[in-house]
Amino acid sequence: MRLRLAFSILVPLALAGCGAVPPTKPAERGARTAGSAPISVTRPDARQCHAELGQTGSRFAPLPDKYYGAGCSTTNSVSLEGVGGDRHQFAVTNLGAVACPLANSFAAWARFGVDRAAQQILGSPLQRIETMGSYSCRNVAGTARRSAHSRAEAVDVAAFVLADGRRISVRSGWNASQDEREFLRVIHRSACKRFGTVLGPDYNKAHHDHFHLEHGGGSYCR
Ligand SMILES: [Zn+2]
Repeated sequence: MRLRLAFSILVPLALAGCGAVPPTKPAERGARTAGSAPISVTRPDARQCHAELGQTGSRFAPLPDKYYGAGCSTTNSVSLEGVGGDRHQFAVTNLGAVACPLANSFAAWARFGVDRAAQQILGSPLQRIETMGSYSCRNVAGTARRSAHSRAEAVDVAAFVLADGRRISVRSGWNASQDEREFLRVIHRSACKRFGTVLGPDYNKAHHDHFHLEHGGGSYCR
């Protein structure tokens, strides 16, 4: 608990004090049985990612690596509760464990994509992003391939709440008023610049009520 608090308060200081945490054993990665490994803050990529996320002004806590079996795991993941904006933090609800590199892309999108579009198009800053979560041990629908959700490397975003109280959901806003339609299409396009795969209502019926934002090197945007 002390570690979680320390990270959410002052990441650089907490990182400096984390040398005592034993490193993740390579043998534990990909283990067949479910279980957890120590928080992987001593891995250079994790330390770098946490430092970058801290610099965005986001509120988060690193999570221990977990292996659930059946190809599902959450490694180098964080609990992200708030994202830093130009003037204040945006709340993020219902997210759970999310891979740290994805959290960084998400934080940048929320600030530079969503909040600024909300101000310009809807005249009110962003207050909260409602998600349908990240980690879920499942396949890509209709395939035998594990979804990025099975590694917490995708986030499903359902709605945006503005400071003036308005709530714009993907489900009802995609084909709603001109302003809401424009807002959702602009932030969908900006997501395509920051995530490897972005799927929305125009992709298929399964995505009528959310944006699927996936970490990775691809460039699929629909
Ligand atoms: Zn998804």
